[in-house]
Amino acid sequence: MLPVYSVTHAPGLYRVLNPHQGRWATRYHGFEQGEPVFAGAQEAYVYSGNNPAMCADPSGQPTAAEAEFVQLPPGTFRDGYYSYSPRSSQWGTQALVSCLTTTGALWFRAVIASHRNRVFVGVGDMSLKEGGAPPGHVSHKTGKDVDLRPLRCDYRSGPTDIDKKNYSRELTQLLVNLLRTACSIKMILFDDTEVVGVTQDKRYPHRNHLHVRIK
Ligand SMILES: [Zn+2]
Repeated sequence: MLPVYSVTHAPGLYRVLNPHQGRWATRYHGFEQGEPVFAGAQEAYVYSGNNPAMCADPSGQPTAAEAEFVQLPPGTFRDGYYSYSPRSSQWGTQALVSCLTTTGALWFRAVIASHRNRVFVGVGDMSLKEGGAPPGHVSHKTGKDVDLRPLRCDYRSGPTDIDKKNYSRELTQLLVNLLRTACSIKMILFDDTEVVGVTQDKRYPHRNHLHVRIK
């Protein structure tokens, strides 16, 4: 049986709770040695590449370089977001997962708690567990990309696009602002150029999602 380790989940920090067995999950010669489990029941993997020298820090504090791909925790009510992609396509760098959980927390405070508007941020494809893109993507290989749904004005969480009547430029602008507050953004591709802080890439349509890449 594979060993299971517990780590706490907080933005930018993953701590081994059982330091005596504490080794970060590694892939070594293709063999998966550890399977951390986030506090609570949420499963997640933390990869440290295939260098065995990188795997064990018995005191439990990994450097950013050691803890690479992490799975987005399933969004619960207070997280402010929901997933609309398979969990298998929701892996990214620790920085990206922190970006999304922090943005979700800010969203919860700004919209759901303050205005009783129960509209949540839809999080779509990120990367696959060991890197690489989910089907249908040109990028999304490095764990730094995520697709997010634009927001709707009808108090519902779900798909929309910029031509639909239920598309909310105002809420989508708020999402962009929160992303730029919480994350180190490289670019946000989106076709509603009235939204400040996004760019349009005419080669690829982004009418029903924002493509976010962090640095
Ligand atoms: Zn994308």
